[in-house]
Amino acid sequence: MTPSAFQQRLLAWFDEHGRKDLPWQQNITPYRVWLSETMLQQTQVATVIPYFNTFVTIFPTIEHLAQAPIDEVLHRWSGLGYYARARNLHKTAQLIVTHGRFPDTLEELVALPGIGVSTAGAILSIAFSKSHPILDGNVKRVLARFKAVSGWPGNNLVNKKLWIISAQLTPADRVADYTQAIMDLGATICTRSKPLCEKCPLDDHCLARTTRTVSLFPTPKPAKTLPVKQLVFLLLSNHLNQILLVKRPPTGIWGGLWSLPEFDSLESAHNWCLAKNMTITHSQELETRRHTFSHYHLDFTPALMHTNSPINSVMETNQTVWYKAEQIKTLGLAAPIKSLLEQYIHENEDD
Ligand code: SF4
Repeated sequence: MTPSAFQQRLLAWFDEHGRKDLPWQQNITPYRVWLSETMLQQTQVATVIPYFNTFVTIFPTIEHLAQAPIDEVLHRWSGLGYYARARNLHKTAQLIVTHGRFPDTLEELVALPGIGVSTAGAILSIAFSKSHPILDGNVKRVLARFKAVSGWPGNNLVNKKLWIISAQLTPADRVADYTQAIMDLGATICTRSKPLCEKCPLDDHCLARTTRTVSLFPTPKPAKTLPVKQLVFLLLSNHLNQILLVKRPPTGIWGGLWSLPEFDSLESAHNWCLAKNMTITHSQELETRRHTFSHYHLDFTPALMHTNSPINSVMETNQTVWYKAEQIKTLGLAAPIKSLLEQYIHENEDD
């Protein structure tokens, strides 16, 4: 199948069946394309829609985003995961606003924090109608199957091969529609499990389909055993029903988000309270929970403690703050901490 036949089939399918009502497909601007592409990295469309709508309501322009406090941005991102994306969005918004215009070349875009070659390709093709290939997760899957490319796409050589195929197939005309079409085909037809090959416009030329090997592509990531890290999170309340939160360092896991003080054991948590002259009047260990990051499992045990000691005894910096339950709901919190606190607040409301 020639690239031009591939493009024609895909575009004809998109014209008839493709999704055109997604919020980021309306009032297309470089800002909205960049925002949606960043949110869609490793995240499903259905999950992204409410976050995207909230962002464009609260930060309707890149200037609004650049001027917003990072805490507000992280709070609006809360629950979407991979928080480095939110910090990079904020930093990049400030750089673009200072620069004075939204960059429209690959070199300029990939020099910005959080913008990789595929996101840059999507911005250039969708927002500026410039012919640039993309290779996000959906497109990798479609191309790996269509050309029966073996090997895990995260591998450098395989990735290179897929980029070459993507570049060969990307048209000069109607590139914005083509980019949306191939992403849409991956999201709705050539899905991870149970692809709908009978509805696919490429089916009679798809190598995986014609050789009945669809389930073999793309090759899965080689399995590895993740290490396990164990922690105790201290959920410390005081006589004013406030909870002690700490702000995490700006970079690294949950960077810039609010969390609970963490310790390697229950004993260390107790010792820390003693060292701060706090008398613990109640202490209870909850069941250990697991949160999995891409490179390790975090097994954390929540330790509930209550103190009647003076409230300022631990507020050494503005990175450690007593918060009331209703304030906590407005903070940027990592998902497992958020659900733990919501459960705690809910149970204490019932008391
Ligand atoms: S025929 Fe099936 S496997 Fe091939 S591209 Fe279409 S949906 Fe994907």
